[in-house]
Amino acid sequence: MKFVIFGPPGAGKGTYARRLQNILDIAAISTGDIFREAVKEETELGKKAKVFMDAGELVPDEITNGVFEERLQQPDAQKGFILDGYPRTIAQIEFLGKITKIDAVINLVVPEWVIIERLSTRRVCKKCGTIYNVKYLKPKVEGVCDKCGAELIHRDDDKPEAIKVRLRVYEEKTQPLLEFFKNKETEIVSVECNDVDIPPEIMVDKILKALKEKKLIE
Ligand code: AMP
Repeated sequence: MKFVIFGPPGAGKGTYARRLQNILDIAAISTGDIFREAVKEETELGKKAKVFMDAGELVPDEITNGVFEERLQQPDAQKGFILDGYPRTIAQIEFLGKITKIDAVINLVVPEWVIIERLSTRRVCKKCGTIYNVKYLKPKVEGVCDKCGAELIHRDDDKPEAIKVRLRVYEEKTQPLLEFFKNKETEIVSVECNDVDIPPEIMVDKILKALKEKKLIE
């Protein structure tokens, strides 16, 4: 099973990918998580990536493709994977096509107002990356991760100025990739999310049902 979860920032890709990883026993690979980890560790990669991330811009393709290729070689990725936040540009989708074949794209169809509302209220665990929302997906104790007890933070790129840039970058550079996948005859499984407070487990069930209908999973 080699899937890409596709959609604008704030569509829920990270939340659903993490849940699907456990249910389907495949690796959830998020280039955003890899970059955030590198920023936290203050590695050379992290220092380079941070400048772009804070502005809401994309990290250059050469860096991103290198990081992705390395991640794909890890043992857990051999049993199958779901890609979250990669590919995001034509150069990345072409690179991906050279190293592996994707079985299907899970395309999250989400109206813009839901995206903006979600991004501005999202919080992330600074240690394990679990995603929460101050209105719609609250932790048990305010500001504290249910899973590891670490502090929840408001990502710099979830602040209004960066959100605007990220949505523009998505429309210009990433959205066109859906056509590219279609042209390569990759199966596209579209799943709609029309409201901001639909619980993640409901959306994950919808995704699983859609994958089953297309016989992509059992
Ligand atoms: P995400 O968590 O997927 O929204 O990613 C957070 C930020 O990391 C993005 O806004 C980009 O700055 C950077 N990033 C993550 N994945 C990629 C990618 N595939 N290509 C370029 N930049 C990326």
